Amino acid sequence: MWGDEPVRRALGTRDKQILFERAGRRCEACGKELDYSEMQVGHKIAASKGGSASLRNSVCLCYKCNKLQGTDSWAVFLKKMGKQSKDFRTKEILKGLSLQKLRFLAKKHNVKVRGRTEESWFQENYVPPSKRQYLNALAKQISENEIKTSLKKFPQSTKRKRKTSGW
Ligand SMILES: [Zn+2]
Repeated sequence: MWGDEPVRRALGTRDKQILFERAGRRCEACGKELDYSEMQVGHKIAASKGGSASLRNSVCLCYKCNKLQGTDSWAVFLKKMGKQSKDFRTKEILKGLSLQKLRFLAKKHNVKVRGRTEESWFQENYVPPSKRQYLNALAKQISENEIKTSLKKFPQSTKRKRKTSGW
């Protein structure tokens, strides 16, 4: 009987090549470019959960993502990855911005970033929030697209360099 055939555990070489090309030679989770020899065959549904070793059930992954997926189904894993990489990208973009731009974004999106008050003997000093504080607060509340759209409205200083005095 057909059903009595042992279940294949791994893709054959030909299928692996097809998978690799189908994935555009990249990890299908994080987008990292891969060499064929680096490719790990992941499963949309883990073998332990009844997934088969078919092309349909296979994904091209890098070593790291294959490990990360564990026994999560592909859908669950992608959700996790998507959220992670989105936060990561947002932070990376924010990191590259000047404090002025971060302030501008915070104001525009009504993201409250609080400085702190340092008390000394006879007076209170207000310490404005640091770049890192802006970054963390903003990354939680606005998306990559919102940053891009908002920054288009950031008042550009013109080609002529402004002379700043009093600094
Ligand atoms: Zn990957």
